[in-house]
Amino acid sequence: MSIKGIIFDYGFTLFHFDNPSVERYYECFKKGLLKSIELLKEKQVWNGKISDESFLQKFSKKREQYWREGRKTKTEFPTSLIYREVLESLQEENFVNKIDHLDADTYEKLAEIYHSFEQEEWKPFPKTKETLEKLSKYEDIKLAVLSNHPSHKMVENSLKEYGLFTYFDAVVTSAEFGKRKPDPGIFHYTLEKMGLTENNECMVCGDEYADVVGGDRAGMQTILCERKYKFPFERELDVPDLIRIDNISEILEHLD
Ligand SMILES: [Mg+2]
Repeated sequence: MSIKGIIFDYGFTLFHFDNPSVERYYECFKKGLLKSIELLKEKQVWNGKISDESFLQKFSKKREQYWREGRKTKTEFPTSLIYREVLESLQEENFVNKIDHLDADTYEKLAEIYHSFEQEEWKPFPKTKETLEKLSKYEDIKLAVLSNHPSHKMVENSLKEYGLFTYFDAVVTSAEFGKRKPDPGIFHYTLEKMGLTENNECMVCGDEYADVVGGDRAGMQTILCERKYKFPFERELDVPDLIRIDNISEILEHLD
């Protein structure tokens, strides 16, 4: 069957993060959170009644709680929501000034700053651009990115930074949709945004369970782009006849 659409995962499929570890992610988040205080000062919210360290602790606690809940329920709790809830609780305790004037764009901006140091770490794999360039020559194949990420802006900014954004007919994140892969709904939503209707004419290419098992459950064809290193708590892939590739450039061999 001919392929009319390809949905790519972002992290460790199109982009890599060198020597990833929980500590490195946390370091990026810490720098981002501390930098976001500048915007809170500019917005007259920050009054110095809470220390940077306590703010960091409160934020991290909320993020951990939502991270655990998100893994269980497949719900995404965007970083902008965490800012809103943490600031609401700080306001109640009088640790910050009134926050009523903060709008959705400001919360998005805070999330963007929070993830800005993480964004610097994500780089496209060497063959990402040339593969997308080749795929863009197929007029009847639509392309999408589908990422489990709590900041939609970070994924978009990263694609734009490397001149890759324009290759895609749709960029979807769990932050925007509200549910995370492997929830089938997020795959169907992506298909719709690509302007396609038939699940089985679409292929999902990703590096983990959420992509491959999720895509399979959504009725799509799947390809596993194998990562060089294992993550902790990696889940078994129970998809029959799974196609495995080492680099997304090999996807070109599997289009018919
Ligand atoms: Mg991935």
